[in-house]
Amino acid sequence: MDRLTPQQRHVNMAAIRSKDTKPEMIVRRGLWSRGFRYRLNYKWLPGHPDLVLRKYRTCIFVNGCFWHGHNVTESQMSDGRSKKEDVLVSSECCKIPSTNNAFWEAKIRRNMERDKEEQRKLAAMGWHCITIWECELKPKLRERTLDSLAFTLNHIWLQDKGCKMYDVRGKM
Ligand SMILES: [Zn+2]
Repeated sequence: MDRLTPQQRHVNMAAIRSKDTKPEMIVRRGLWSRGFRYRLNYKWLPGHPDLVLRKYRTCIFVNGCFWHGHNVTESQMSDGRSKKEDVLVSSECCKIPSTNNAFWEAKIRRNMERDKEEQRKLAAMGWHCITIWECELKPKLRERTLDSLAFTLNHIWLQDKGCKMYDVRGKM
């Protein structure tokens, strides 16, 4: 006997896919419970977005803070001579290891450049892109992040329909 509701089944089936990372599952469940429907892993779109909401013409990327360099900054460091080199400065959630520093820095920088390029391509194709960071899904921040994601999607939908929207909180 199959006692799963369609929603449970959806969550279950999604859970056994091998590519599923936990943060991505949080976003999926959060959107699903707020009534949003999405497609997964649109392979033919640049960057293979984690979730695609066609109705909202929006791609969502759920990014790990370390690999995608969340909040790292570029800093111009002078080595004392005339030559200047850009270095990546670690952030709270992306600590670039000091061992093999150059390797990690190059790797993270490449990922960041790729992300930017893919989102530029998607924008040129008329897609909105939203990035959700792993650190924004920590238990304390999770609900707020998902609420604001839902808010942003509704905002996008209204804007695409040519409606003006006013927010009493003055946020957007
Ligand atoms: Zn982060």
